[in-house]
Amino acid sequence: QFQATGVQTCFHGRHINPQIYKDLDGTNWRLKDYEARDGYKALRKILGEGLTQDQVIATMKESALRGRGGAGFPTGLKWSFMPRQFPGQKFLVCNSDEGEPGTCKDRDLLQYNPHIVIEGMIIAAYAMGITVGYNYIHGEIFTTYDRFEEALEEARAAGYLGDKILGSGFSFQLHASHGFGAYICGEETALLESLEGKKGQPRFKPPFPASFGLYGKPTTINNTETFAAVPWIIRNGGQAYLDIGKPNNGGTKIFSVSGDVELPGNYEIPLGTPFSKLLELCGGMRGGKKLKAVIPGGSSAPVLPADVMMQCTMDYDSIAKAGSMLGSGAVIVMDETRDMVTALKRLSYFYMHESCGQCTPCREGTGWLWRMVDRIDNGAGKPSDIELLNSVADNIQGRTICALGDAAAMPVRAMIKHFRSEFEAKIAKASEGMVVAK
Ligand code: SF4
Repeated sequence: QFQATGVQTCFHGRHINPQIYKDLDGTNWRLKDYEARDGYKALRKILGEGLTQDQVIATMKESALRGRGGAGFPTGLKWSFMPRQFPGQKFLVCNSDEGEPGTCKDRDLLQYNPHIVIEGMIIAAYAMGITVGYNYIHGEIFTTYDRFEEALEEARAAGYLGDKILGSGFSFQLHASHGFGAYICGEETALLESLEGKKGQPRFKPPFPASFGLYGKPTTINNTETFAAVPWIIRNGGQAYLDIGKPNNGGTKIFSVSGDVELPGNYEIPLGTPFSKLLELCGGMRGGKKLKAVIPGGSSAPVLPADVMMQCTMDYDSIAKAGSMLGSGAVIVMDETRDMVTALKRLSYFYMHESCGQCTPCREGTGWLWRMVDRIDNGAGKPSDIELLNSVADNIQGRTICALGDAAAMPVRAMIKHFRSEFEAKIAKASEGMVVAK
């Protein structure tokens, strides 16, 4: 999925580690290594000091941790929605179905630091009174899935998982589940359907998973990176985490930087760091070329031109103010040689391919978008195509069951808004018969 924009990518699992994901070298993922990095101390603190569920949730609220899967919803608030006195089974789910083009942070977390996710999930389960959890892992990452299973075994053997954890009265069973690689299963209700063994298609909402989730029971779903942030917050306090970032944007975030930079990879930086600093950490533009545009938060996020992006800081509010989304933190960097029509064509193909087909505007519209961009790119575009593209995007956005429709429409509108002249130039050449079809 990293190739969906047509921008060459190469990931080395590189981390700049100011706080949370320290000292990972690719081999030190086992339980003993994690314990040497203060692993499971947060869980011991909670159980040893007898922290109440309310105290844990209050700490999470204080931290201003926002969901790292894309939506940026406040984690502590989400946890407080779980009906704690519900008499039946409740579930905790980790969404590791990372499929957004450009994003590869959750894969690295599970590969290089699986216990941090497990500990975060145990603490979340404690805070919400949940006894069963699942980690739904993307179907295209096999060694990562196997590693997570191994880490689960280690945690069970050490008494961190299972009945009466560390001799307390708290029990939590955690299982891994391997998906099949469908992008749509990253949508939380499609994920739940898939986990239940059904076709992975999004549900109508409401009801939301907090009241009607897995098997119709109250369920809390968080992203892998969100859970991974929890142990540090519990050990160091909510305020300390908030202080790393900026107001309303607590802590650090992992950015998967791909495209035309010298050192693509995963970078953990404090939220609020200037984009220019992130670019510097990545070694700058590859070959000294000029920055043209950036997709700042995964392929669903509207593209931003270089001058706008260079004014942004890497946090939810700054990127939203600039007209895009921080999303999952996949930063796709494009240099001056990139053809934006071709890039959009590849994105449009991705969404057409990944539409689950339930609703007409998405099922039909994503195909229309791709066919129109394809013909413009191939020298067969018509002058009316640009407005037609905007019109189709308008008729998809906000009219579908899940956000995939919006994700397909937004890049189209943004590309036309910022790089209209490139579309017009191709269409003009087509009119003059100057473009040879590719
Ligand atoms: Fe399926 Fe697309 Fe409708 Fe989402 S928007 S439910 S992916 S058809």
